[in-house]
Amino acid sequence: MSEEKIQEILSQIQDPFLKKDLVSLGFVKKISLNGKKLSLSLGSSGIDNTKTENEIRKLFKEQAPDTELAEITFSAGITEHKNPKKTEIFPGVKNTIAVSSGKGGVGKSTIAANLAVALASKGFKTGLIDADIYGPSIPLMFGINEKPKVQVKDGKNKLVPVEKYGVKIMSIGFLMDMNTAVVWRGPMASSALRQFMSDVVWGELDVLFFDMPPGTGDIQLTLSQTVPLTGAVIVTTPQEISLADARKGYIMFDRVKVPTLGIIENMSYYLKPGGEKEYIFGKEGGRKMAGEFKTKLLGEIPINTKIRVSGDEGKPVVLNNPELEESVIFNGIADELITEINIANTNRTGNSEVVIEI
Ligand code: ADP
Repeated sequence: MSEEKIQEILSQIQDPFLKKDLVSLGFVKKISLNGKKLSLSLGSSGIDNTKTENEIRKLFKEQAPDTELAEITFSAGITEHKNPKKTEIFPGVKNTIAVSSGKGGVGKSTIAANLAVALASKGFKTGLIDADIYGPSIPLMFGINEKPKVQVKDGKNKLVPVEKYGVKIMSIGFLMDMNTAVVWRGPMASSALRQFMSDVVWGELDVLFFDMPPGTGDIQLTLSQTVPLTGAVIVTTPQEISLADARKGYIMFDRVKVPTLGIIENMSYYLKPGGEKEYIFGKEGGRKMAGEFKTKLLGEIPINTKIRVSGDEGKPVVLNNPELEESVIFNGIADELITEINIANTNRTGNSEVVIEI
């Protein structure tokens, strides 16, 4: 039984949700063949694994009767954003996601940090680029005091991202004094970012997050055009003033043909000790915005001191207080995000229409 034959059989099986075959989705994770005994480790969108398993067993019985199909294990599968520009810039990176917000202080970095850690703890290979020139807070939120090391690769000096909590991290804050960040101009930010893309040994990653500078000015527009993005997530608080800016963010990404994978509403409410919700910044603004743009509301995150303290202590809340309701919400958002990435990637038929000009 050749690996080719196994792949050929698996190429006849469709993921029931994404409606594409397991091979072209990149969901064949591991094939272990020991004599006649075969074990498979497969990716899945999480829908109806039993049905998929039954189909696989039936096909192997018919088309490879000599093989003993022992174990089939499923785990969350992630597809690749196929884009020639991305392959050129980030050869081993499957997806790049911008975490963006219309204004500062709404929790964009907190969300980028927690989503990155949540995905890493689910077994995804995850990276995070802190591109927030106005306030690179990722080193603080991850408790990183060291600088990236330099490695010589193919005769060139390359930076090695700092790894913490399973996430590979590069930050604008590593390259400069925090206090000077704010005087950076667009070209400097773009060139630093370009360096993060071409001069860093990222290796293989399923998802690389970009913690973007807040707003929708020239800097943000340039960055969204420079990075070949799978999609963006927009962070907002529920009140109108934040939503108005978040809407501009959606429109900016739309202009450069980057799909918005969803909205995350932060500081949605405060959970009082009795369990009652207090809507400090208004109610359901993120939900309304998602409805308006026909995009997904990925989740609503309450205000909780533990989120702020965890950030300040350098350990994102999903690791610091995993049992907390807010951590459960972050994990749920991470799952939803994978689904939205997969939908976006499978909808790009031919993958040619979302090529971004640099
Ligand atoms: P941004 O990246 O949008 O500027 P940050 O992620 O730096 O925002 O968050 C600003 C401040 O608010 C930080 O001190 C952070 O810890 C805190 N914060 C963010 N989200 C929450 C939340 N849901 N509950 C409590 N504090 C939060």
